[in-house]
Amino acid sequence: MRNSTLALALAASFGLLAGCQAPATPAQDGGGTGVGATAGAEDTRFAEAAESLLMRALERSPEWSIYAGRYDNAGQLTIPDAARRTEDLAFARAALAELAAFDPEQLPAAQRIDHMLLVNHFESMVWYQQEFRDWAWDPSNYNVAGTVALLLNTPYADEDERLRAVMARLEHVPAYYEAARANIDDPTAEHVELAIVQSRGALSVFDDGLRGRIDASGLDAGDRDLFNRRIDAARGAIEGWIGWLEGEQQRLAASGDARSFRIGEALYGQKFAYDIQSHYTAAELYQRAVGEKERLHAQMDDITRELWPKYFSGTAMPEDRLKRVGMMIDHLAARHVERGEFVDEIKRQIPQLGEFVREHDLLDQDESRPLVVRETPEYMRGGGAGASISAPGPFNPTADTYYNVSPLDAYSDEQAESFLREYNHWVLQVLNIHEAIPGHYTQLLHANKSPSLVKSLLGNGAMIEGWGVYAERMMLEQGWGNQEPEMWLMYDKWNLRVVTNAILDYAVHVDGMTEDQAMDLLRREAFQEQTEAANKWRRVRLSQVQLASYFTGYAEIYDLREQRKAELGDAFSLKDFHNRFLSYGNAPVSAIAELMREQHPED
Ligand code: ZN
Ligand code: ZN
Repeated sequence: MRNSTLALALAASFGLLAGCQAPATPAQDGGGTGVGATAGAEDTRFAEAAESLLMRALERSPEWSIYAGRYDNAGQLTIPDAARRTEDLAFARAALAELAAFDPEQLPAAQRIDHMLLVNHFESMVWYQQEFRDWAWDPSNYNVAGTVALLLNTPYADEDERLRAVMARLEHVPAYYEAARANIDDPTAEHVELAIVQSRGALSVFDDGLRGRIDASGLDAGDRDLFNRRIDAARGAIEGWIGWLEGEQQRLAASGDARSFRIGEALYGQKFAYDIQSHYTAAELYQRAVGEKERLHAQMDDITRELWPKYFSGTAMPEDRLKRVGMMIDHLAARHVERGEFVDEIKRQIPQLGEFVREHDLLDQDESRPLVVRETPEYMRGGGAGASISAPGPFNPTADTYYNVSPLDAYSDEQAESFLREYNHWVLQVLNIHEAIPGHYTQLLHANKSPSLVKSLLGNGAMIEGWGVYAERMMLEQGWGNQEPEMWLMYDKWNLRVVTNAILDYAVHVDGMTEDQAMDLLRREAFQEQTEAANKWRRVRLSQVQLASYFTGYAEIYDLREQRKAELGDAFSLKDFHNRFLSYGNAPVSAIAELMREQHPED
């Protein structure tokens, strides 16, 4: 699973960066005109305007630049104060005026999508600042460590140059936290707690490890001394910020009427529209997810009844359908690889998935850019096991794409067993489909063929994640796993997680779902372990819309495919559908659907 690049880009465009997560940025080359464009005066003019706009946006947001893999202004720290917000607003409005000078109807398809993404980006900027206003109630927006950790861990230049960039960034850290404190007014207790935890984590970036690197560097004595003093001041500012947050925490606990973490119907609907750019409204998507949960439960029960004699002969089947399904899942989960074989098993499956896609003619693949399976680098591990795709950013297009797999070394026997039961024989295959072939990695290779700086920096996260989730079901439908009922049951349980995430997000933020109701949904209806459900309850209080994005993208892609099938009848080809769908790059599914119909009405 990966973070939404859109959310990241939005956070970064405010100069506000959340935490120390390492983002996976889709790889694309810069420039280019894209799909089916015939060069004309208008598209050349738009390509230049779009590129110039983005470069100016990156230039004024060093934080966004660093996450995008561009380091020429890495030494500047953005101070998130009121003056900066005024400048952000002026920049966004000027950008929207520049974009309004183009008529999207006159642009080729790829550029129309770029135009739409840019307009959405700058309209979002205005909305986030003026309506959503999380800069005033979510203190976890303020953290200077994420960018510093990236500069220290990414070998983009020699050690001394990177250390100098960090030293320059540290100069104004006290002013940064002073601005943060001035911004926060009526925070939620949940985000105060998160900010405390993440700020304590930030201190670990400015530790003896960094001081050791300064000692071993080529910096002269004067610079080393200055650097160390700036680290002292930065640590002091972070500690002061933590102390202030702890005071807020006590104040909120005593007052008993802290701001709710639930953002409510109006803000949720708007955030859904800006972050996902779906053709569904938030309420429609919620209804779609509720229906899907019912469909999955019915299917899982059918499979459980079919398998019952095979695994539980002589045992009475419980009356309650969710109980019997849960028993079957629990029984099957015992089949999994040994903890020491986890990484090797993933390496073994990747070429098999590629072969299956070739044999079944499902979509084009590109042999020239192989996926490198590796153990997750230490600094990216963040405490848990798991898997993710790391793709090179738009400014480093020739770098390798990695499939990061964390070995289970740090786990106790009990934790490892629980993890392996979750990523059991069947689910591990589904995970590899999602992350690698034909999921994220394959989608990326297609996106690279129509390179656009706009789509790589402002790409639609719901489409990218939706494709990963769509790929899982499509592969099983095409016969991966030999239509084994066990494979389908485990897939359904896995898919139920995406479906219930969407239900949970809306129900909690809009309908006031309680913790007990949430735990019942996750534990009883989605068969989750206590730890997973508790983590999800924590996450839904800290984020909004993101948990619904995977299901939205998936449902839209699946619906589009079924509609195309119905429209085209015998002329429908799955391979053509996939290649064409992916040729538009990281665009909102709603935009792709429109362009596909327009450009290819009958093939
Ligand atoms: Zn994913
Ligand atoms: Zn076991």
